[in-house]
Amino acid sequence: MRKFLLLSCICFGLYTVANAQEADSLAFRRIADDILTNGQAYGNLRILCKQIGPRLSGSPQMVRAEKETFRMMKEMGADTVYLQDTKVPHWVRGEKETAWIAGSNGSKMPLRICALGNSMGTGTKGIKAKVVEVHSFDELDALGEKGIKGRIVYFNVRFNPTHVVTTQGYFETTQYRWTGASKAARYGAVGTVIRSLSSSIDDYPHTGGMGYNDSFPKVPAVAISTRDGDLLSDELQRNNSAELYFRTTCTTLPDAIGHNVVAELRGSEFPNEVITIGGHLDSWDLAEGAHDDGAGCVQTMELIRVFRKLGIRPKRTIRVVLFTDEENRGSGSNRYTAFAKAENKHHILAIESDAGGFTPRGFSLVADADKLARLRSWMPLFIPYGVYAFEIGSAGADVESLRALGATVGELMPDSQRYFDHHHAANDKFEEVNKRELELGAINMANLVYMVDKYGL
Ligand SMILES: [Zn+2]
Repeated sequence: MRKFLLLSCICFGLYTVANAQEADSLAFRRIADDILTNGQAYGNLRILCKQIGPRLSGSPQMVRAEKETFRMMKEMGADTVYLQDTKVPHWVRGEKETAWIAGSNGSKMPLRICALGNSMGTGTKGIKAKVVEVHSFDELDALGEKGIKGRIVYFNVRFNPTHVVTTQGYFETTQYRWTGASKAARYGAVGTVIRSLSSSIDDYPHTGGMGYNDSFPKVPAVAISTRDGDLLSDELQRNNSAELYFRTTCTTLPDAIGHNVVAELRGSEFPNEVITIGGHLDSWDLAEGAHDDGAGCVQTMELIRVFRKLGIRPKRTIRVVLFTDEENRGSGSNRYTAFAKAENKHHILAIESDAGGFTPRGFSLVADADKLARLRSWMPLFIPYGVYAFEIGSAGADVESLRALGATVGELMPDSQRYFDHHHAANDKFEEVNKRELELGAINMANLVYMVDKYGL
């Protein structure tokens, strides 16, 4: 009898698990079918890119994007949508940059450059100096003041091509963009040029944030397209005393006020448990910010629409946060983290989509072992939608600080091969985003939230 009871219990347990899996699989299918059939992510991305355009913090487009996405999420049926204000940097590029290198025959070979975000300008006359090319900070240090003083330093540092995930190449080289100018100025450089942080060889200079170390003089900093970076290097091989000229008129204005746009679906059973998903609403000024990060914004907003449409009532509170100023100072992330600390709720998961609207492959996570195991146990449900990895790795820049509150944090990992071809450059535009790839990202974000909401973490 006892054996019979035990067997019945096991059978019932297995039956329940199988039933739950079937129900989850059906829910995934409904979410996916609706997004692939009726999704608004692609149309909303068109509005962000084509009707609004570049959305750098402090710009009028940033304000328009806040208003527009506020309206979108209200219309999608969020329980509440609100703004969180914060001071954001206000840097403006000024006139289109010019640059050339003097050829040995006296000609001026034009080069495609752009100022780095937060850089000071050269003044209207520009600067002209001999160039010293280096491939690492070690080379810079070895040259010292004797080799650098009075010159423009060219940091010609490529992505390591052997990294299959291109993000790794980016992480290794961003230090030259952020800190190269001050490191070179320490030895008396008058300006710096970096090879664009891109895995492609093309004509687009890629901008991005830089900062100054107050201990050293400030010098103008620009990026050169990878193709022109190679030309510059070739020219320097021929004539290492060739002079480079560049002119930038960028300037930094007093801080402006920006806003995170936050939408909530209130939890019906555990309203004090919070799941945050989002992207960042700001973008660099050269681009429409389609992949970086209009895609992440429209993908995560889509969750509100699809949950409402399908009548999925979350048990836990789900927040979609469109962060302001990810690109420059991270002030939107700081603002949300401070808010999260103060509200004293239990943040269980925070996931960002900020690696492009490409075909999703998995999720990169900062998670405890037991939570990672739980997420991985759900993997079979995700595989039909192209996600096959829950890996320990990085989290999105906007959500990683929620780890300190105990949340599992992470980001959607799309295919990375083309992301840095577009990142922070003029070719990060709507036409470069594939509708279905974008929607698959939205589906996987929604499905992950569905599971964590239903079962906790
Ligand atoms: Zn981004």
